[in-house]
Amino acid sequence: MKKIQMVDLKGQYAQIKDRVDQSVLDVIASSAFINGPEVHAFQKELEEYLDVKHVIPCANGTDALQIAMMGLGLKPGDEVITADFTFAATVEVIALLQLTPVLVDVEKDSFNIDPEAVRKAITPKTKAIVPVHLFGQCANMDAILEIAKEHDLYVIEDNAQAIGASYTFADGSVKKAGGIGHVASTSFFPSKNLGCYGDGGAIFTNDDDLAHTIRGIVNHGMYKRYHHDVVGVNSRLDSIQAAVLRAKLPNLDAYNAARQMAAHKYTEAFKGNDKIITPKTTKLCGNPAEGDCNCHVYHQYTLRVIDVDRDALVKHLNENGIPCGVYYPIPLHAQKAYKDERYNEADFPVTNQLVKEVISLPMHTELDDEQIAFITKTVLDFVNG
Ligand SMILES: *Cc1c(COP(=O)(O)O)cnc(C)c1O
Repeated sequence: MKKIQMVDLKGQYAQIKDRVDQSVLDVIASSAFINGPEVHAFQKELEEYLDVKHVIPCANGTDALQIAMMGLGLKPGDEVITADFTFAATVEVIALLQLTPVLVDVEKDSFNIDPEAVRKAITPKTKAIVPVHLFGQCANMDAILEIAKEHDLYVIEDNAQAIGASYTFADGSVKKAGGIGHVASTSFFPSKNLGCYGDGGAIFTNDDDLAHTIRGIVNHGMYKRYHHDVVGVNSRLDSIQAAVLRAKLPNLDAYNAARQMAAHKYTEAFKGNDKIITPKTTKLCGNPAEGDCNCHVYHQYTLRVIDVDRDALVKHLNENGIPCGVYYPIPLHAQKAYKDERYNEADFPVTNQLVKEVISLPMHTELDDEQIAFITKTVLDFVNG
């Protein structure tokens, strides 16, 4: 059996090596390292793929979130509501901009922000909601858009984990993750579903004015050469990374399908075990059995284990050569940097439970049947004692 990895970037590279190597060498030969034609071409191709009007590439997913908030003109003291159960980047940029983070609980089934908790957290100072499409599945965007409309709030999608996922609205219409709110951010960190070979990110929006504002912000607040109209940042996607992403974008749907296939096999193997709760797809946008459902693109395949010593399970898997992850072990409201007396433990029952139960199994595009069978058997042997 091939050695099991949490993410197999080498195996994926081997299949696109010729194209990637040639494109990277071409960039070097052209010396157009910054804002070269590759960056522009990638931007256009991603706009088309996502069906959004504007993609603004930038240096990483954390910058993308920060720049989205700067572009919307959020001001110190404005309250921004986001999920308690996510990667820290989301709350970090809110705090960094001196906005007030308002962390709220998530839903048990989807791991995503709970619209009812959002509703309860709204005050006259609330300006935006940041749903994170965690682990590859969209948050409940029907409810979030409705709340936002009712209270005149911006919706900023953190789409770092769900690029290529679709969301089906209650009326049957379908949109791609990242094209739903006012603005969205993504990350091209190597292990993300569309990863480059270094750091990268992008902001998406359908709003022409906002796109114009953001294009200046990423470039030192410049709209005309050496005229700095607003305080900006320096955040660029470099041409070599764009070349890698151009080589990978045409494969994104196939990559996501490979992840879905692996997830399907995991779920089948765990079926009927009452100590293991497999990830739930809360919406269906097609027929999963036919491989045409993109409602979950499994950035992570995350189980909840009930009445099982989760940390001992992690140790057992590691001892058997199976890497795994605990995303995320500590609620954000309990992190030293983000603690605040405004928060009440009683307001986070789900997050407080999830941090003890979750375990993410190896998930990438190169998992084979032998590896999946070994992983599921090792998990089941431990869980069944
Ligand atoms: C990865 C990630 C980010 C940050 O992306 P970087 O490119 O690493 O800065 C932000 N939010 C979420 C949910 C992520 O998973």
